[in-house]
Formats: sequence, C-alpha cells, structure tokens
Amino acid sequence: MSTTIAVYPGSFDPITNGHLDIVTRASKIFDRVIMGVYEIPDKNLLFTTDERVELATKSCTHLKNVEVCSFGGLTVDFVKKRKAQVIVRGLRAGADFDHEFDMAMMNKYLRPDVELVCFMSSFRYQFLSSSLLKEVASLKGNIDTLVPTPVIKALKQKISQGKL
Ligand code: ADP
Repeated sequence: MSTTIAVYPGSFDPITNGHLDIVTRASKIFDRVIMGVYEIPDKNLLFTTDERVELATKSCTHLKNVEVCSFGGLTVDFVKKRKAQVIVRGLRAGADFDHEFDMAMMNKYLRPDVELVCFMSSFRYQFLSSSLLKEVASLKGNIDTLVPTPVIKALKQKISQGKL
C-alpha cells in the first residue's frame, strides 16, 4: 500500500494550539505529516527560523508521525522534494478563505498533481492567530491555554528581552 505524506506549511511564529489542533487531526488521517516552517515569510517575525522549528518540534514530540523542518522557496517544490502528495491548511471562519483559495489555485497551476486538504478550525481556536496572540502576550494578557507549554516560556523570554 502506498504511503500518503502531507506537508503542513506555515510561518508558525510561534506555533499555537490552533496549529497544534490541525497537525494533530492531520496526523490521524495521513501516514506522515511534515510541518514546513517558512524560512522567510512575508511577515515581521518575532522568532528566528531555528526558534520556530524548535518550538514546533517540542510541541509535537507526542505525535510520532509528525516531523518539523524549515524550507525556502515554493511550497509545492518542497512538497515534491519530500515526496509528499498533499498540502494541509487550516481555515478559520471568514478571514482565511479568500487568501487560501488564491493560493490553492496558484499551487494547482504550478503542480496539478498536489492536492490541498483544508481542515476547519475547531470552534475554540477560531479566533486564534499568532499575531493576535503576540499582541495579547505583549500586553500581559493570559495566553496559557492558547499555546503549547514551550511557547509560554519562549514568549516570556522575548518580553523580558524587550523584543515583544
Ligand atoms: P501563514 O503565514 O502561512 O498564514 P500561519 O502560521 O499563520 O502561516 O498559519 C499556518 C496555517 O495554519 C494556515 O493555513 C492558517 O490558516 C492555519 N491556522 C492558523 N491559526 C489557526 C487556527 N487558530 N485554527 C486553525 N488553523 C489555523
């Protein structure tokens, strides 16, 4: 039987429980899931690439068929390089659809044989984004139930270093 490998690409700056929920659900459906951390996303980053990979790796140690690594260039090229067949993305109500749709069409144009599977965000994480999380953390709001444990410490460290 053939192995189905999925790539879940993102900035993960930092990984949140919303991302963790998606990768956990994907890990139950696909044989292997590779979380692909963009090296240079079109965003202002708080964490370095190595830090984002480390935080995601520490958060996923219990998911035995999940691997985390960084990549540059086109997502579809990374998918091909890793012999994967599927791209996984998460969809929150409203905001995500238009952007995801455009990206899905472009990826289909670039690599028609790569499929996209979108997971609807779980109800409790619909409002959660890395950017809103960082804003709340910087204003000393309680983010403890919104992120995996290693991220709580990492955010506190960035605050104490005056970087957030
Ligand atoms: P990107 O820069 O590619 O949007 P993100 O790290 O912000 O990277 O998000 C990666 C993926 O995870 C995207 O598909 C995004 O829609 C999804 N995602 C982000 N937050 C959530 C959440 N709270 N629930 C479900 N999916 C999410």
